Amino acid sequence: MEVENRTNNFLEEIIEADLAAGKYDSIITRFPPEPNGYLHLGHAKSLCINFGLALKYGGKTNLRYDDTNPTKEDVEYVDAIKEDIKWLGFQWAEERYASDYFDQLYEWAEQLIERGLAYVDDQTLEEMRANRGTVETPGTDSPWRNRSVEENLRLFREMKAGKYPDGAKVLRAKIDMAHPNMMFRDPILYRIKHAHHHRTGDKWCIYPMYDYTHGQCDSIEHITHSICTLEFDIHRPLYDWFIETLGIYPSHQYEFARLNLTYTLMSKRKLLELVEKGYVSGWDDPRMPTLCGVRRRGYTPEALKMFCEKIGVSKRDQLMDIGLLEYCVRQDLNERSNRYMVVSDDPIKVTLTNWEPGRVEWFEAPLNPAAPDGPKRRVPFTGELLIDRADFMEDAPKKYFRLRPGGEVRLKYTYIIKCEEVIKDASGKVVELKCTYDPSTHPASGQWRSVKGTIHWVSTAFAKEIECRLYDRLFTLEDMSQVPCDKDYKDFLNPESLVVRTGWAEPALLDDPADLAVQFERVGYFKKDPDSTPDHLVMNKTTQLKDSFKL
Ligand code: ATP
Ligand code: MG
Repeated sequence: MEVENRTNNFLEEIIEADLAAGKYDSIITRFPPEPNGYLHLGHAKSLCINFGLALKYGGKTNLRYDDTNPTKEDVEYVDAIKEDIKWLGFQWAEERYASDYFDQLYEWAEQLIERGLAYVDDQTLEEMRANRGTVETPGTDSPWRNRSVEENLRLFREMKAGKYPDGAKVLRAKIDMAHPNMMFRDPILYRIKHAHHHRTGDKWCIYPMYDYTHGQCDSIEHITHSICTLEFDIHRPLYDWFIETLGIYPSHQYEFARLNLTYTLMSKRKLLELVEKGYVSGWDDPRMPTLCGVRRRGYTPEALKMFCEKIGVSKRDQLMDIGLLEYCVRQDLNERSNRYMVVSDDPIKVTLTNWEPGRVEWFEAPLNPAAPDGPKRRVPFTGELLIDRADFMEDAPKKYFRLRPGGEVRLKYTYIIKCEEVIKDASGKVVELKCTYDPSTHPASGQWRSVKGTIHWVSTAFAKEIECRLYDRLFTLEDMSQVPCDKDYKDFLNPESLVVRTGWAEPALLDDPADLAVQFERVGYFKKDPDSTPDHLVMNKTTQLKDSFKL
């Protein structure tokens, strides 16, 4: 895929300067998901940045699970995350887990205690919160802050040995309860949690906190550029403090703006709620912004990468138009997808009065018009056909180029037909058009006669009934960060986000050879859903054909 020429983003500037200064031989980045949910489009941006930088500069990227919260995590997520990253086409150098380093982290904690830089605190969480002070006012020292090294060591070992219940004690760094950066007001390093861990089992009942874990894990793996989202910028001084205090490999943290998209949201907690409460059919519901959701819908890795390249890397929070993502999907599918004709629900029957009864003529049509000499599909043509109701108009305005009484239109890939008679039912609804076809207009006849309109069609005898799932925005509010405080985000779920319709497809669709969304000609892109059975094809609407988005 073509990558536009562009200037370096700020991360590339930093890395090029570091490499030019000889600071590193090569770079190492990491992608650090917490296995408490499925990856979403925001993660795709982070993946493209982390893997993209390593690829560009000949470095490597580790996949490191940030698995320090056993109660919310699960192997289901661990496996799904790997599958999604592979689907995007990225290959990590090493698969690591923060829990791989629990022994080392524990040892460093004892070291901090021995140096008088950490203590066991018996305050409750509420007391700690109250004593933390505010941005304007300093905090208050814990009454347990001046325990002796020996007592702290003994208590911490007892915490580890399981002597205390959840919440009874924590280990805190002893830094400064009046520090202007609240992060430095004796941050918690360990909390007690009697919980089974999906990797370490019941070995631990104390678990390290994010701030105490992340930088040290980076350091152990010699991550050169640890790239995370903006909200972590206030954590960076603490990240550096642990690394400097422990005197370990100096990894550095850099922050970029998180991706937000219109009409959707990307908080794993909320996405989990939608799944658990049944607002969607699962994490891979095609309306979800998850990678498994958009994959099932028919979005491609190529389109997601194109999108990430277009939005770039910024230091300012951004709300991106989901229309841009759909534009990228269309760009990619337009080049590559196979074409089929499918007539929508409630079609109109077309009868060709001059067609020899029982005759079937097979036409060859390219699977993809971008490759007219490439693979073909065979399309059967008969004397009774179906067309879209929208392709006929009785009292049509002048500029209407589809079928009208007495008018002509070309049936795609085949003949020109003329509407001779309109048949209606008792309610006045058009149910049939009696037409004639012009045999001299066969596309291979060598004498091309042109008409203004070309419409798609299927032969009634060969048409296959399929289920089409049509999707719209999951939410009705453009900026989901602006949900008013007297409302819940679920109040903005779009009741029209899924509409199921029947379609009538040309038979070749059922034998489509590609694992890629196809184009229903003149309609949109559709991807085969795994709910399909041999007798019942289910197609998910990926996106409409026409661009509503203007670049
Ligand atoms: P959530 O708050 O929804 O749980 P998270 O940030 O905690 O999301 P992680 O699994 O910790 O999710 O994220 C892994 C990586 O992906 C982190 O480096 C994180 O900064 C990045 N990331 C998460 N969400 C986005 C987003 N919307 N845009 C860009 N990067 C993101
Ligand atoms: Mg996180």
